[in-house]
Amino acid sequence: MFNASRRDRRRFCLALLSVAGVSAAAGAQAQSYGSSSAPGEAGKPYPNMPAIAPIGVRVDKYLDIPASARGPAVDPAKGYRLQDLGSGLYLVTDNVYQSLLLVYDRGVVVIDAPPTYSAHLPQAIAEVSDQPITHLVYSHSHSDHIGGAGALGARPIIIAQEETARLLKRAADPNRPLPTVTFASKYTLRVGNKVLELSYHGNAHEPGNIFISAPAQRVLMVVDIVFPGWMPWRRFALAQDLPAYFAQIEEIRAMNWETLVGGHVARTGTHADVDIQAEFNRDIKQAAATALATTTLGEGLDPLDQGHPWAFFDNYIARVAAQCVKTMSPKWSSRLAAFDVYIWDQCYAMEQSLRIE
Ligand SMILES: [Zn+2]
Repeated sequence: MFNASRRDRRRFCLALLSVAGVSAAAGAQAQSYGSSSAPGEAGKPYPNMPAIAPIGVRVDKYLDIPASARGPAVDPAKGYRLQDLGSGLYLVTDNVYQSLLLVYDRGVVVIDAPPTYSAHLPQAIAEVSDQPITHLVYSHSHSDHIGGAGALGARPIIIAQEETARLLKRAADPNRPLPTVTFASKYTLRVGNKVLELSYHGNAHEPGNIFISAPAQRVLMVVDIVFPGWMPWRRFALAQDLPAYFAQIEEIRAMNWETLVGGHVARTGTHADVDIQAEFNRDIKQAAATALATTTLGEGLDPLDQGHPWAFFDNYIARVAAQCVKTMSPKWSSRLAAFDVYIWDQCYAMEQSLRIE
């Protein structure tokens, strides 16, 4: 049974890829499916499937990363790179995660401590200061951005929005020590002659995720919202409130800054990057709305499933998502890196939001 089921899955994938025009070279043997499938097994692909492979189907070669998504190389011997953003402010990155250091006369403020390179943070700090870490600022509670904080050794003042404190208390994670200073809407951190303005603009990515502005350096850090040159992580970076997430991107567009630190990818962002993300958002909202309005409910559903509401909607939503992906692909597949990796996820998130939010 196990072998038969595996063989069927493989045949389904080959058939899908064949429809997608992806694996002609693999010599996929088209098989006929449908009436002979056991309940619950994969059947024929939906009509008009886009060329981009759907979730759960293996891709032999993903789309190339466009030059616009690349950044300066990281020295593999160091495991991080430092970028001078001016007036004592430095980006630290491993080209996947990003954090900041603010150096002043008597210490260093660390803004986020991603575990992927937090072991190298003391060395990065030593490149620009011989002073101790006096403050730690959390952009938000997620462990992939601050889970290296516990290993920093020092117990500095830790500043976060109060929702972040609530979530960290619940997590009770020794790698993410609790904030010692919290605020609701705004907090100004002055150290020596340096200033950081922290502000909370409501839940979008998750409660407590803040905007961190360095006005003298004209730098704005907002994590997990815009990924310069790239598609956001799946489902718009798991935004907990998608309309608010779209609105925060418009807020970021309207603000006065020169360099955006998004918390991820290999480079910092510009206003052009935020404009592109906003344009993508408008397009996918339109594509999903049109697909919802023009896709026929229940089409192609096995008559035996007619009384099964979950099956009825799965069939409908899968066809809506396919239509959305197909609409988005010609314009966007080469404009944002990893379009092929996450466009299905973004279309599923978008149609869900439009139906119920
Ligand atoms: Zn996050």
